[in-house]
Amino acid sequence: MAAEVLSQHDVHVDLYEAKPSIGRKFLVAGKGGLNLTHAEPFESFVARYGPRPDQVRPLLEAFGPDDVRAWCHEFGIKTFVGASGRVFPEDMKALPLLQRWIQRLRERGVKLQTRHSWQGWNQDGSLLFETPDGSRSIRPDAVVMTLGGASWPKLGSDGAWVPVLRQQGVDIAPLQPSNCGFDVNWSNHFRERYAGEPLKSVELNFTNSAGETFQRQGSCVVTQNGLEGSLIYAASALVRDEITASGSATITFDLAPDRTLEKLIERLSISRGSRTISSHLRSKVKIKRVATGLLREFAKESLTDPTQLAHAIKALTIPITVARPIAESISTAGGVRFESLNEWMMVKSQPGLFCAGEMLDWEAPTGGYLLTACFASGRVAGQGALAWVRR
Ligand SMILES: Cc1cc2nc3c(=O)[nH]c(=O)nc-3n(C[C@H](O)[C@H](O)[C@H](O)COP(=O)(O)OP(=O)(O)OC[C@H]3O[C@@H](n4cnc5c(N)ncnc54)[C@H](O)[C@@H]3O)c2cc1C
Repeated sequence: MAAEVLSQHDVHVDLYEAKPSIGRKFLVAGKGGLNLTHAEPFESFVARYGPRPDQVRPLLEAFGPDDVRAWCHEFGIKTFVGASGRVFPEDMKALPLLQRWIQRLRERGVKLQTRHSWQGWNQDGSLLFETPDGSRSIRPDAVVMTLGGASWPKLGSDGAWVPVLRQQGVDIAPLQPSNCGFDVNWSNHFRERYAGEPLKSVELNFTNSAGETFQRQGSCVVTQNGLEGSLIYAASALVRDEITASGSATITFDLAPDRTLEKLIERLSISRGSRTISSHLRSKVKIKRVATGLLREFAKESLTDPTQLAHAIKALTIPITVARPIAESISTAGGVRFESLNEWMMVKSQPGLFCAGEMLDWEAPTGGYLLTACFASGRVAGQGALAWVRR
């Protein structure tokens, strides 16, 4: 996006990428349909950026959700609004968009230099790259860094820039997993039996020690190590911060959100006869086997008493031990702090150096918010770099 802004003017732009091709994570995002942005009202949209809405707002005012859609249409790719308000390209693919985007950059004279891994600065202030042909040093008039976070490092963004920029005095909040799964100490029996099973239409409730609450209905997946999936990701920032603050966190599932406690007690009080508890729960209150497994795991003592069992179904507490590693998370929290940047995303202590994208210290849930803020900050940094080289 920064290259796009700059290349519309009389500026020579080189785009360096460590990997053999650019946009690998963008392509992987396409596997999930490429959720480009969200159609909710602007104020709600801005509020999604965790503790950083005030810093992200001006970026989105410069290039917001509607601009993302219009930009996409420029490539002849229509977008549509899904049931949840999420916006996707009509074909739900990233490749056609990426190909046309790269083509346009090339036509505007941007030189794509792949297999160029930036290592840091030389003594004389030039940028040092490792390439298959050895080291290369480059001294541009302005630099826009968009090095990503540290999730899915095999796609290129590995967070190796953190110590390099820190050494230059850039203020960086520690990188943390965002939109991540969590570990739960499953018994071997539960793990072997239920890993990979989806837990559908449950309600997740969580309150942290400061009294902030999360409540949402949705789906997640039981994994070998714990829990992941969209419902868990949505709560992940709050849960992760609670683990950091107090060492652990406990989430609560309502396994039958569409049934009242009274109704459950009534249904569960019907004689079970010779049926197993699993088939009793399935036939009387439509609780799936994996949910029964969870009840066995965390509320075994309540299984024989209809009232206690109904209470456990409505509020099953699950202790969470730790967030899954950042490499597995969808995105990264932490990064270059906004306080160290000016309004054009230029590092105050390094004039001529701009930062954008996921390497900045903001986070947001899934829903198109990640790509939108990456696009927006890239454009603002591009405009800043343009003003800088023209000054
Ligand atoms: C599985 C998955 C699905 C996702 N789906 C969506 C979605 O549907 N919607 C959404 O909004 N977001 C989604 N995201 C998040 C979104 O893809 C990222 O937030 C976004 O790609 C970040 O863009 P970026 O340009 O800042 O960083 P990246 O896309 O990570 O790009 C950074 C680039 O910098 C290169 N690089 C890093 N270090 C160096 C170096 N030293 N030298 C040279 N090059 C370097 C990397 O190789 C990489 O190509 C998804 C993420 C994942 C993992």
